[in-house]
Amino acid sequence: MPLSPEENNRYARHFTLPEVGRPGQEKLKNSSVLCIGTGGLGSPIALYLAAAGVGTIGLVDDDQVEASNLQRQIIHGESWIGKPKLDSAKARLLETNPYIKVVTYNTRFTAKNAVEIIQDQDYDVIIDGTDNFPTRYLSNDVAYLLKKPNIYGSIFRFEGQISVFAPHLGGPCYRCMLPEPPDPGTVPSCAEAGVLGVLPGIIGSLQAMETIKILLDAGSPPLGKLVHYDALNTHFKHFNLRKDPQCPLCGENPTIKELIDYEEFCGVKPPATMTEITVTELRDKLAAGLDGKLIDVRMPDENAECAIDGSTLIPLPEVPNRHTELPKDETLYIHCKGGIRSAKACAYLATQGFTKLVNIKGGMDAWIELA
Ligand SMILES: [Zn+2]
Repeated sequence: MPLSPEENNRYARHFTLPEVGRPGQEKLKNSSVLCIGTGGLGSPIALYLAAAGVGTIGLVDDDQVEASNLQRQIIHGESWIGKPKLDSAKARLLETNPYIKVVTYNTRFTAKNAVEIIQDQDYDVIIDGTDNFPTRYLSNDVAYLLKKPNIYGSIFRFEGQISVFAPHLGGPCYRCMLPEPPDPGTVPSCAEAGVLGVLPGIIGSLQAMETIKILLDAGSPPLGKLVHYDALNTHFKHFNLRKDPQCPLCGENPTIKELIDYEEFCGVKPPATMTEITVTELRDKLAAGLDGKLIDVRMPDENAECAIDGSTLIPLPEVPNRHTELPKDETLYIHCKGGIRSAKACAYLATQGFTKLVNIKGGMDAWIELA
């Protein structure tokens, strides 16, 4: 499809770049990318790719906009709080550039739907904007199996890193760099560790740049390189990554030939010994005298703001060091803000031999609704 006169005007600054020009711009228009997540990383990724004129942008997310997102998730705005992130992101992208197509998938990206979603528009590039381990391994594996470049990015407090994993073009895959995921609970999420809002903006923008370079076949992507950014010291560093001949995915004798259960692989799948109760059930149990211990795994500042009477605070990052304080013969009722971190805590405690684990569904958010 050629460019319309309106598009010629819109992309004028690209035309004078020899690496883009009119043919490059037409390439972008006829390209498609899948952006997983519309959060901190997904926001700048999707916004810049839309503005640059990437013709088809697929978005995967099942979350809703929260006020605490807006400090970094710049694709969303105040009037979208409480509404689906996908609707907000799509509206914002089409406001930025009405000459593109935005395809939305209102779901989590999982081993069950990943292939179907990618094949839906036969996306040229997969971009992981989620920053969690199960999705990171999933996007790596599915991109490898379908021979698509996977644009990786992750952030932590004031540091971030990116790479491009595309063994079919050269270099290693994500599993070559990190064969085993870290113990759940040892790597805090943004909610636990905090993140300066500009950082995902920078890392996501680097991911958008690498995506455009791949689509244009311009410059050289960081295949086999991990680019690390230290924001506090304004320092970029490159690390060489080696392809691992023993890699279970892209090595000489691969054992992973189809998608696996990524939550189980990353140890965040709810253990068989974990049960769940609602906040209503918890309230009734507390009224009758709780037959166990109530543990809050949120961060101290969240606990200070509001806590359930009688709960003990053990923030999720401290669970691996402090689980010895907990009795194995008593039932542990575990809650966080929404039920995700508490499920992670249960998953970790199950690996340490705890069997009486009860997750509080909906966490403090649901508890407040109850009051
Ligand atoms: Zn590999």
